[in-house]
Amino acid sequence: MKRTIKKVAVIGSGIMGSGIACHFANIGVEVLLLDIIPKELTETESKKGLTLESKVVRNRIVNEHLANSLKSKPSPIYSAKFASRISTRNTTDDMAKIAAVDWIIEVVVERLDVKKLVFEQIDKYRTPGTLVTSNTSGIPIHFMSEGRSEDFQKHFCGTHFFNPARYLKLFEIIPGPKTSSEVLDFLKNYGEQFLGKTSVVAKDTPAFIGNRIGVFGIQSLFHLVKEMGLTIEQVDKLTGPVIGRPKSATFRTVDVVGLDTLVHVANGIYENCPEDEAHELFQLPEFIKKMVENKWFGSKTGQGFYKKV
Ligand code: NAD
Repeated sequence: MKRTIKKVAVIGSGIMGSGIACHFANIGVEVLLLDIIPKELTETESKKGLTLESKVVRNRIVNEHLANSLKSKPSPIYSAKFASRISTRNTTDDMAKIAAVDWIIEVVVERLDVKKLVFEQIDKYRTPGTLVTSNTSGIPIHFMSEGRSEDFQKHFCGTHFFNPARYLKLFEIIPGPKTSSEVLDFLKNYGEQFLGKTSVVAKDTPAFIGNRIGVFGIQSLFHLVKEMGLTIEQVDKLTGPVIGRPKSATFRTVDVVGLDTLVHVANGIYENCPEDEAHELFQLPEFIKKMVENKWFGSKTGQGFYKKV
């Protein structure tokens, strides 16, 4: 079978989903971007007399996220004219539209229970043979494909884009127990040839390669900051431009990633790797738990280690 990718569905339009949608649109692929419907009206929507049934309200979350992504940091590989290739919808009204795409990419919150419900829906509506992949940061792939149809499992694996999806090169591909070699070979090649990435196949171990190492480094720093009495600014000075990483100083990166997401990934490693030598290191320090309780998730909520001004 000769596969071509003319249209993708991206489910979950947050930091990563909207970034992935832009990247595909940029290379000429049509994108259907989906997210959930809001449960409450905003003050402005109420004042305008809109209801939860209004179309503009039902598609508000997905449209807001995409608008944010389109605003952020234009790059030489991105041009706003590609935005017209992205159509925004919601999963309640329009999930059935995924039947008409060549590749479905799941990019919802890093929670196995939520992802499993999404995969159940995908399995119901997809056309057999369609690729289905997850952008999970670290949930084992075999947990997500459990209970799905044979055809789904054959065409399913992890495709982990790094943040920001439009710029970072690493593209981790994680096969599940039943992923076919045709799918794996296709994705490796597509990542390199069309997405402009470096494809790396990783084993289905918690947090795969990139985040097992990355979260280890970040968690080590969380503990060292307390132990050595360092400030956030000191760590970012030491782990940023001076060592040749102009944009990836540690705490700035955590704010961009989102503390909520980081916490799910660190907890996943802690729970799933009891034998790891560094097991205790993946336990979250109290100050991180407090920040998450306060919804200081980083850039997405306007406050993390830094305040967005
Ligand atoms: P985010 O919180 O910015 O966005 C998640 C989106 O999922 C939200 O818009 C939310 O409304 C939506 N959502 C929740 N339930 C849904 C459902 N049932 N159907 C459709 N949409 C739903 O999160 P993110 O940072 O974009 O992360 C998304 C995924 O990508 C996670 O699995 C995360 O681990 C992974 N990831 C994140 C990063 C990062 O740096 N943030 C990097 C690589 C991978």
